[in-house]
Amino acid sequence: MKKTRALNKVWQGFASGFPPIPALKVSEWAEAYRVLPREGSQRSGRWHSLPYQIEPMDAFLDKEVSEVLLMWAAQTGGKTELLLNVLGFFTHADPSPQLLVQPTVELAEAFSKERLTPTIRDTPVLRGLIKDPRSRDSGNTLLGKVYPGGNIALIGANAPSGLAGRPRRVVLQDEIDRYPDSAGTEGDPSALADKRAESYSNAVKGKTSTPTLKGFSKIEARMATSDYRKWHVCCPKCGHEQVLLWRQIIFTFKNDEGQEIKDPARAYLECEGCKQPLTDEERVAMVRAGRWVATQPFAGIRGYWLNGLNTLFPAGKGYRNRLHQFAQEFLFAKKNGAEALKTWVNTFLAETWEESGDTLSAHPLMARRANYGPKIPRNCLVLIGKADVQGDRIEAEIEGYGLGQESWGIRYQIIMGPPNLQDAWKQLDEFFLQTFEHESGATMKVSVALVDAGFEQDLVLQYTKPREGHRIYAVKGSSTPNAPIVTRGTRNNQQRAMLFPVGGGAAKDLIFGRLRLNEPGAGYCHYPNGYGYDDEYFFQLTSEKAVTRYHAGQPVRVYEKTRARNEALDLKVYGVAALHILKPDLMALHKELNGEGAPEENEVEVTMPSRQVPAPPPVSAEPRKPISQRRPLGGQSLGIT
Ligand SMILES: [Zn+2]
Repeated sequence: MKKTRALNKVWQGFASGFPPIPALKVSEWAEAYRVLPREGSQRSGRWHSLPYQIEPMDAFLDKEVSEVLLMWAAQTGGKTELLLNVLGFFTHADPSPQLLVQPTVELAEAFSKERLTPTIRDTPVLRGLIKDPRSRDSGNTLLGKVYPGGNIALIGANAPSGLAGRPRRVVLQDEIDRYPDSAGTEGDPSALADKRAESYSNAVKGKTSTPTLKGFSKIEARMATSDYRKWHVCCPKCGHEQVLLWRQIIFTFKNDEGQEIKDPARAYLECEGCKQPLTDEERVAMVRAGRWVATQPFAGIRGYWLNGLNTLFPAGKGYRNRLHQFAQEFLFAKKNGAEALKTWVNTFLAETWEESGDTLSAHPLMARRANYGPKIPRNCLVLIGKADVQGDRIEAEIEGYGLGQESWGIRYQIIMGPPNLQDAWKQLDEFFLQTFEHESGATMKVSVALVDAGFEQDLVLQYTKPREGHRIYAVKGSSTPNAPIVTRGTRNNQQRAMLFPVGGGAAKDLIFGRLRLNEPGAGYCHYPNGYGYDDEYFFQLTSEKAVTRYHAGQPVRVYEKTRARNEALDLKVYGVAALHILKPDLMALHKELNGEGAPEENEVEVTMPSRQVPAPPPVSAEPRKPISQRRPLGGQSLGIT
């Protein structure tokens, strides 16, 4: 039969001219196919993207984007769910070999059991592709899922064997701040994992984490190289576009007497623009209508930062609304101490935590000055002398320590006059030689004294060398970053005098932590009214802040001055150092003082653990002249060679 023109036209119809099929986006795949399992999630059933989840999911397929970063709060619902959507997409819609890295092998197993397996089970298109591991020859294990066109390998960043292997198009890394710095001896696990995708021109890489320590956080360092997108929302009252920040949550009010009270149940959101109060319903509407805005130039890496203020989940039981919950959870964290507050900052604010010691305020410390003295407080068990030598004066202090290194400021004195004059040193001798009355009735003297040799080293060593027999030693700040509080002393100097290197950073970490304590007890620092502890003392005590600096590419925490004078802080450091050198048995002293096994009545000499190291003889009032020809007391135990 001869084909007619008309028939020909009909039959050739399909030959060409179709429009291209639009590529499926990850967010569209999730809306169409993903089912949230009942367990391990705040929602269940069909997937519906939250507004801030759509763009990050789709960025994984963006040809311009080499890597997607998510630095997200824990309660915004999502960063792990987004990873599961990406895994599902590259299992079903564009099958490819995939790698998912968790901080440890155990966490990879837990992720497989608690998140991936239920997702596969409840999402029909995935269940059809990945056989039940319990069925025969499924080829599937806890850490390996096979499907036509690829497989998912789950590994731990702590296992170098898992990081090497065949190329993977999709490399997803979860909670990278918890990865070890090196996988065995192989190096940075994150970089090793990324290497697996090197041979793919269409590689897909993603990294997520809540951040951790400032300067040490891996996600923070990575985010700095990204376009750092933030979720921007608009005020319904003034239209001002803003990023929601913690300072906008207001829950401090004035009561009728004009006192400030905290009332988390009445918490509201304050607009950055018009300063008007906004309700939680208004916050939810603002967040739903928000958009991602880049805050840095784009150079291939797309970063998304989202804090917990953007959460769209309903408030927990017992809370009026989310704003109430935000304020209350902050107050709980604050009450539970630095560690709880750090977790809150990392997981709710999605911000890095600056280690204790960042800055301290002088005024609360001034306010704690109490009435004690001239007698030495009952719980004070050992007295320590310290001196810091300056060009025109010597600043000297006597400090007391008790159980748990609870401390008491005893005397603070500024000896005026340049240290090259004998008179200044004579006064220092007198200062260290003082005799005190302990509240128990016993007589008490300084047990050990440290003098800073950082400035006038020769003069200081001339002073300390003949007094070493009485435990008066020279100290000097260590030049090694992250040095311990005290390292072994040496005599590598002209005077052959003992000189102990002191790690100021380590000591200041300890001191700043202690100055933050609010309750008397272990570590707490007491200060008296008077006896030299004026306001200037407290300004000096809080005159430095901890910052992160880089040495040879490695972050190191150092203390930097925030004002010119800091002698009080230096002297506090020498107190901690002196305890490391003296190593007094504070518990034995405490028992002795309280009559538990006390040898003599009314005559308790509160200086040193008497059975171990004899108390020092008094220091001569004549400077620079050896009084005792004996070997230094307790030489071996003090690490002196
Ligand atoms: Zn406004």
